[in-house]
Amino acid sequence: ATDHYDPDCIFCKILAGEIPSDRVHEDDEVIAFKDLNPKAPVHVLVVPREHRRDVRELAEEPELLAHVATVAGQIAADQAGGDFRLIFNTGAGAGQSVFHVHAHVLAGGMLAEGEM
Ligand code: 5GP
Ligand code: ZN
Repeated sequence: ATDHYDPDCIFCKILAGEIPSDRVHEDDEVIAFKDLNPKAPVHVLVVPREHRRDVRELAEEPELLAHVATVAGQIAADQAGGDFRLIFNTGAGAGQSVFHVHAHVLAGGMLAEGEM
């Protein structure tokens, strides 16, 4: 399902299989794939299938937002020690560069002291 497919959106293209990605999870609501430019030993993006601009829009669907957090926790449990950072860059002024909402899951060490 690729409802609200935006032809100008790189994550919509990944969701449609038009651009390859290294997927670590997929279900009816979200997919998760490894970030192309990892900032931590585990750096995965959890992405709702439906195009939503940012977490402010996603928050209008609380169950979907909660599902993103649940999947993030499962990935961190599977791939790292279990602890993780969950980051939504929201707006260009905060460093968002892809305007299809995605949660960064950062895990696997050296996170307690460092920056993302
Ligand atoms: P933002 O800055 O919008 O929060 O994060 C966008 C993230 O998407 C960046 O960390 C960037 O490395 C990642 N990214 C951008 N294009 C691609 C791509 O085509 N494939 C993958 N796997 N990650 C991408
Ligand atoms: Zn999109």
